[in-house]
Formats: sequence, structure tokens, C-alpha cells
Amino acid sequence: MRNEASVKQNKRRKMIGKWILLIGSAIVAGVVGVFLFASIKVSAAEDAVIAPTPLRISQSTAAAPVEKNLNSNNMATLFLSHFRLTYKTMYLTFDDGPSKENTDKVLDVLKEKNVKATFFVIGEYVRKYPDTARRIVEEGHTIGIHCDVHDYSILYANKEAYIADFEKAYDTVYQITGVKTKLFRFPGGSVNAYNKQVCGDIVKELEARGFIYFDWNASLEDTVGNKSGEQLLQSANESVMGRERIVMLAHDRVENTADNLGTIIDAFPEYRMRPLNEYVSPVHFRRFWE
Ligand SMILES: [Zn+2]
Repeated sequence: MRNEASVKQNKRRKMIGKWILLIGSAIVAGVVGVFLFASIKVSAAEDAVIAPTPLRISQSTAAAPVEKNLNSNNMATLFLSHFRLTYKTMYLTFDDGPSKENTDKVLDVLKEKNVKATFFVIGEYVRKYPDTARRIVEEGHTIGIHCDVHDYSILYANKEAYIADFEKAYDTVYQITGVKTKLFRFPGGSVNAYNKQVCGDIVKELEARGFIYFDWNASLEDTVGNKSGEQLLQSANESVMGRERIVMLAHDRVENTADNLGTIIDAFPEYRMRPLNEYVSPVHFRRFWE
């Protein structure tokens, strides 16, 4: 009897052992599967960064999820990004500076967080605050042209007016910072209520000269009303929506943006923050003239 009982016990032990092995293997296979799946998705997203064809989105849906195919807000990516094995990419961009006080605050935060960003500057203010403009460049950020004077009625009167303003800003940036930038951003975006008649011609002219424009696909909405830090973060979250590649619009002249930038950066740990350059595939609003 005793013998029979110990045989039974042995069998039961073996059975439990088998089950443990089976479940263990399943878990390992699952983890490997998740890793492979996410790696494929992430490499697809990385490829998109250097894809020759620019991503184009319409202005009215600038904040909508236009990169659905890259949206991997799934368990795999969350799992991997939690352990910092993979990242999404965010390009922080600041328009309308340099400003007297806030640009330095923005630069301080970026330095503290070890983040490089992009500044689309106004020539008028680069001449006014040359030290700040030089600081942008010295600290490793990208500088691009916004305009020389931020006045839609002058800029968009005709193509020649836009180009004349652009050249003035370009010369200012070159003289003061030594940078011959290839990047620019249209005041109001490439397609807006003031420039429908001329934007196609301006793009053709400046692209023929080798310049690259960047619109955006997410925004802090920091020039709309006087938003609190919480509201800025809400705008960021609502426009980012977990997408793989984000060009974020912000303004370094806005005090609340400068004051809350650290919190906003901390809210996106799954993103690598990168400066734009001429090799980054641009985000464009719809090029309706083509
Ligand atoms: Zn602007």
C-alpha cells in the first residue's frame, strides 16, 4: 500500500513538473513574440522618419490621427517602452522667438532635461535678442526661419513679398548665428486663411532653392487663450494620441509654455525628443496645389 501511494505521489509530482514546464515555455514564447512584434512595428516607424515621401496632412485635421498605420499604442509598445527598449519620436518646435525672457527659460528647461529642440525664429527678434539666438545654436538646438516680421497682410500679399521677408530673416539668422539653415515654417502653417492664393507658389520657389518647410501634427494650442499648465498638457495629450512620430507646435514667447515645459516633457517618457534637421521627413499640411 505504502509503495502504491509513493508511486502515485511520484506520478503527481511528474505531472506538476510537466505543467510548470509547459506554462513556463508559454510565457517565454509570449514575451519573445511581444518583443519581435514590437520591434517590427518600431523599425517600420523609424523607417518612416527617413522616408523620402513627406507625410502630408490637411490643415483642418492637423491634430487628428493621420498616422494610423503607425499607431502602436498597444500592449507590446507599452511593455517595451516601459523598460526603455523602444521609443517613439517627438520633435519639439518653438515658433515666434526669441523673446526677451521666455526663450531663456525654455532653453534652461531643455538643458536641464537634456532635450534638443527646434526654434523657428523671427528675424526682427533675432536682431533684438542676438545673444538668445546664439544661445539656441550653441546649445545644440536647430534654428529655422519663421519670418522677418510676423504680419500676414504683408507676408501673404504676394509671392515676392513673402520671399523678400524670408530672405531678410535668413540673412539675419546667418549674420548673427552663422547658421545657413535649410528649414522654415510658414507663419500660420503652410496653408492658412490668409495665404491660399500664394502658398503653392511660395512652396515651389523655396523648395527649388533647397529649403524644407515643416508644419505640425500636434500642438500645445498655447496661443489660444491663456492656458494653464494643465490645459497645455491636455492639448498636448489630445493631439499626440500616442502616435509614433510627432512634430509638436509650441511658442517660446508664451510664458505658460516656458513655465510648464518641464512637466510637459516629463509627461511623454515613451518619446525620444529630437531636433529637426534636413534629413527628417517633413510633416506637411495638404499640398492642394499639386
Ligand atoms: Zn508664428
